[in-house]
Amino acid sequence: MSQIYDRVALIGLGLIASSMYWAIKRSGLAGEVTGYARSAETRDTAREIGLCDRVCESAAEAAEGADLVVLCVPVGVMGDVAAQIAPNLKPGATVSDVGSVKAAVIEAVAPHLPEGVHFVPAHPLAGTEHSGPRAGFAELFDNRFCLIVPQQGSDRAAVERVEQLWQGMGSETEEMDADHHDLVLAVTSHAPHLIAYTMVGVADDLRRVTDSEVIKFSAAGFRDFTRIAASDPTMWRDVFLNNKNATLEILGRFTEELFALQRAIRTGDGEHLHEYFTHTRAIRRGIIEAGQDTDAPDFGRSK
Ligand code: NAP
Repeated sequence: MSQIYDRVALIGLGLIASSMYWAIKRSGLAGEVTGYARSAETRDTAREIGLCDRVCESAAEAAEGADLVVLCVPVGVMGDVAAQIAPNLKPGATVSDVGSVKAAVIEAVAPHLPEGVHFVPAHPLAGTEHSGPRAGFAELFDNRFCLIVPQQGSDRAAVERVEQLWQGMGSETEEMDADHHDLVLAVTSHAPHLIAYTMVGVADDLRRVTDSEVIKFSAAGFRDFTRIAASDPTMWRDVFLNNKNATLEILGRFTEELFALQRAIRTGDGEHLHEYFTHTRAIRRGIIEAGQDTDAPDFGRSK
């Protein structure tokens, strides 16, 4: 893979930015990568572990002269960061982001960008429950989708270059509009996270099940909920506050289905339960066939 950008700036140096850095380096996709994070502690850690060719003291300094600036901060601060870098963006540069929500981020970022700067929002569908600069690894995006959300009138060459970068980092890219993205993600990621948070919260409330029992016997489904529920609180607070409508719509549907299953259990309607679970099993099979998960009994965690 050959170099796609001379200079890339990563603003925010957590799980996603650090994985991008290692993936960019793995394939030589950029000449120089600069980086910035809010706290001195994260910037020092980045310097210590060699994350970024140059760690800067401000977002504006990191963005100065960059051909591509990628906002890798929580969704709720994307607009503030865009305002900080705007005066230093060079004409013809591209700004992208990796936020888990698209419509709200576009609304917050786009007004700050000067004319002549291209905006190409993106969202890699890859992550772990870990966060921070040490959490990243080069393989995070391998064989995962990255959704690209071009804007009306987007410069095609700028969009295609961002897609090439993600492909170079191991992802398959697909273009989608912002509202559809937010609905799809509400189903596939946001609502499931909220349900996991709730389930773990419920177990914690149930004093009849002691903490040690919850941990000791967690293999039976609960363990997967706890992994998801360990995800970064700031990131997920911002996701729900910024994808409000789609998440609420899906949760409404979820509640209806839950009540229907609750009723089937109460009335002893085994046929309904069996049919329902047969259908959901087929969905799981579809995910494995699409190469988006492994059918190893531990969900590939021991790999
Ligand atoms: P993370 O590991 O928590 O890192 C966030 C980074 O943003 C930290 O370096 C933090 O700096 C920095 N930051 C926070 N506020 C800032 C500000 N005002 N100015 C400058 N830097 C700031 O988060 P992440 O998991 O990489 O997520 C980053 C983005 O990717 C989020 O928008 C998230 O929605 C999206 N995303 C996440 C996943 C996932 O599974 N984690 C997957 C796809 C997309 P400090 O360390 O100094 O606080």
